[in-house]
Amino acid sequence: MNYNVDERGYYGDFGGAFIPEMLYPNVENLRQNYLKIMAEPSFKEEFDQLLKDYVGRPSPLYLAKRLSKKYNTKVYLKREDLNHTGAHKVNNTIGQILMAKRLGKKRIIAETGAGQHGVATATVCALMGIECIVYMGEIDIARQAPNVARMKMLGAEVRPALSGSRTLKDATNEAIRDWINNPVDTHYIIGSAIGPHPYPDMVTRFQSVISEEIKWQLKEKEGKENPDYVIACIGGGSNAAGTYYHFLHEEEVGIIAVEAAGKGVHSGESAATSALGKEGVIHGCKTLLMQTKDGQITEPYSISAGLDYPGVGPMHSHLYKTKRAEFYSATDDEAMQAGLELTKLEGIIPAIESSHALAIFKHKAFKPEDVVVICLSGRGDKDLDNYIKYFNL
Ligand SMILES: *Cc1c(COP(=O)(O)O)cnc(C)c1O
Repeated sequence: MNYNVDERGYYGDFGGAFIPEMLYPNVENLRQNYLKIMAEPSFKEEFDQLLKDYVGRPSPLYLAKRLSKKYNTKVYLKREDLNHTGAHKVNNTIGQILMAKRLGKKRIIAETGAGQHGVATATVCALMGIECIVYMGEIDIARQAPNVARMKMLGAEVRPALSGSRTLKDATNEAIRDWINNPVDTHYIIGSAIGPHPYPDMVTRFQSVISEEIKWQLKEKEGKENPDYVIACIGGGSNAAGTYYHFLHEEEVGIIAVEAAGKGVHSGESAATSALGKEGVIHGCKTLLMQTKDGQITEPYSISAGLDYPGVGPMHSHLYKTKRAEFYSATDDEAMQAGLELTKLEGIIPAIESSHALAIFKHKAFKPEDVVVICLSGRGDKDLDNYIKYFNL
């Protein structure tokens, strides 16, 4: 079984590039060039240097002793929360800004929901001195004021999406419209392992630095490269794809995905895409997504803004369908408790997205001799208000 993208841009039955004809030249230009550019020694050198000196990589692989003791297994945390800007997203935006420069692009556009990807994009545009326009739903702009302020301070223009539900999907539509109107000078930085081919593969490759580091770090600490399990939360699936990448074809490594169940998988307020989703097309690719009987996308819900997405990247749909990965979902309550637990046991306040991955211990028991690696995708600073409200702190 192959879990990587094939030459047609598919992961098994999922993926492809379902785009309006007007977008074809942009996407085709990227498709023809991305692997060539990524293989250039000067690209690799600049990417690695920035990940090291700007992002602060390698991120530590930390043996969480008190958490391990509590669940009677050996738990390592991959500390993406310690990256510059506080999450894994910057690995991708650094890669894509370098890609855009080599493609001769002078202008960057992005969509953002909660604002995390917008901030990561505005950050690398400031770093490179490139014009940056971030589309964001009007409702999200009101809900996410600190991230809007960050983007503006970084020099980005935040343009409100005023149509539809005025949230992420409408921002995405606006970004696509912009790209159609500016096909020559503009690159569209997509923020997760989603979108038309080659985006899911390109984003996965940029994020695969996570599992590349886990391999040599485990070799140093455990004397072997492969853990028994790798675990990550899934919104669109970029931190998960990066965490799994170098283990996909290592059969002895168990792959575990944790989605957001919101108020319960069958409560009507959930983002558990694999459990609730059916095949369909969203944002340019064929994948599992939450939809009504007549194919209208269902509004997702999760307490965590980063997991509040109605689809999942095509690689993950393939991992689900082939049963290569085990899929679980954690409710808001389970995630919040797991976040507080990590804070008390290890002195680390996780992003609420990452707390969903930590909630795996409420759903699955591991053996004492298992080596379990969890991707701690981001830090909890941005979620402090939510934690305060939830726990009455
Ligand atoms: C955006 C975000 C996620 C979800 O995005 P993926 O593409 O699924 O990784 C998870 N964790 C954090 C901290 C985020 O900011």
